[in-house]
Amino acid sequence: MVKNMIELIHTRDELKKLKAQYLESHPLATVGLVPTMGNLHEGHISLLEKSLQENDLTILTIFVNPKQFGPNEDFQKYPRTLDDDVAKITKLFFEFSNKHENVSRSVLIFAPQSEEEIYTPGFSSLISVGNITQILCGKFRPTHFDGVTTVVYKLFKIAEPNNAYFGQKDYQQCIVIQKMVNDLELGIKLHFFPIIRNANGLALSSRNQYLSGQDQEEALKLHRSLIILKNIFLQESSLEVAMEKATRLQNDFLQDTRYDYLEILDGNTLLKVNPQSTKIAILGVLRLNGTRLLDNEVIDLHVR
Ligand code: AMP
Repeated sequence: MVKNMIELIHTRDELKKLKAQYLESHPLATVGLVPTMGNLHEGHISLLEKSLQENDLTILTIFVNPKQFGPNEDFQKYPRTLDDDVAKITKLFFEFSNKHENVSRSVLIFAPQSEEEIYTPGFSSLISVGNITQILCGKFRPTHFDGVTTVVYKLFKIAEPNNAYFGQKDYQQCIVIQKMVNDLELGIKLHFFPIIRNANGLALSSRNQYLSGQDQEEALKLHRSLIILKNIFLQESSLEVAMEKATRLQNDFLQDTRYDYLEILDGNTLLKVNPQSTKIAILGVLRLNGTRLLDNEVIDLHVR
């Protein structure tokens, strides 16, 4: 592979071949992985940009993983927009290359066209991290995180990256994947990056396009509630008093039955807040006409 190369590939054999060629000519190169389900927006692109900054070779994967969808979820209708995705990646790649003329970067876009490309025929294993996958989103999507960890483990094995990039929008997912990496001693450094929002504060998501105009307005309620709760922790110096005030408001907000959940937890463990907590995570899911909108705000108690 030559300097500053970008390629779209569909099979793991091509991926292995191109990566091996690249490493042969760049033996000290680092590899960054950005796993996605495609239909890319600025949130995904921010992760790609980070990986480009920090790695010689970036592998961005586009795979709508059937294992992380429940039986009545939106696997079939999930937006698949490969041509647009490739155009967005290519645009960022050339902007980056033009801005950093002396830096050599390459990108492989790995977009498997069949499930078997990831899950070899007869595949029946499951990576399951345990308790943490059964709270919050796991209560409503009991098999979701097993599907996520299984695909991410497979992608780690196929791509063998040094670094992997994830968005904090899926906060519980970040904690679950970090636990998998620790438990299984995978030796991959994980990097988590902030939520990218639209001008109204709505977290970007491929599922936002399912929302009607009216629902888009309603959707703003979720982030507004998180901010109100967050501000209590920023303004109140006693954690105990803040928890008391926030819990009262949280209960008010939960009168709206469209919340799957709205919780205030220890940001490191996703367990109950306690006097030793150094981070608070406020996490919510609002369900609007069948579309689950996910968002969170995190407060670092040391820098209040
Ligand atoms: P997905 O394609 O939805 O599986 O997301 C792929 C990656 O992009 C995951 O690590 C997500 O957390 C991340 N991501 C999705 N939406 C956003 C967003 N609005 N801001 C930052 N990262 C995001």
